[in-house]
Amino acid sequence: MNCYAHEDRNSVATCGDCGVGLCKECEEATIYRTDKKALCKKCNYKYACENNNIYEKTLQSKKTLLIINSIACGIGVIILFILLLTGNGTFGAVIGMFICWSLGYIVSTFFDRSLKAKKTKTMRHPNPIINFIMDIFGAIFKFLLQGILSPIMIITVLIGIQKVKKQIIENNEVLSKLNAV
Ligand SMILES: [Zn+2]
Ligand SMILES: [Zn+2]
Repeated sequence: MNCYAHEDRNSVATCGDCGVGLCKECEEATIYRTDKKALCKKCNYKYACENNNIYEKTLQSKKTLLIINSIACGIGVIILFILLLTGNGTFGAVIGMFICWSLGYIVSTFFDRSLKAKKTKTMRHPNPIINFIMDIFGAIFKFLLQGILSPIMIITVLIGIQKVKKQIIENNEVLSKLNAV
């Protein structure tokens, strides 16, 4: 088989998505890989577009998380003061605030549409049982963290938003590069 782009060259690999032949130069020029296999230009472009959609959705999702968690955080502080001013003990008032923060977290998870972009490297453990255990511990940890440290979670989401914005810029560079070729 010959390269789909350079008809005079023999292919050293096939596109991991559509299966056309790729010469050495085309194989090395790939931006994305699927199962370690290089992609042709058309499929690279398709992946970049898909990633773009994923990043935009993730950004919207994170903005929603930020709004919900900020509201819950604010209401929690108001509850704290109301409970203190109405003669409740400090301990009860603080617990009331934490419960409000945790509720805010639970509500926000229903709006969490963060998706994972197609990546060349898989960060997950190959063993599904270990993945499952890690997911559960991750969820418990996040819940506890949210209940106690809502303001820190808000900062984390803010950092996340900046990260996704950077990913969108990088991905747009990839798209314009693929367009230019
Ligand atoms: Zn292809
Ligand atoms: Zn080629």
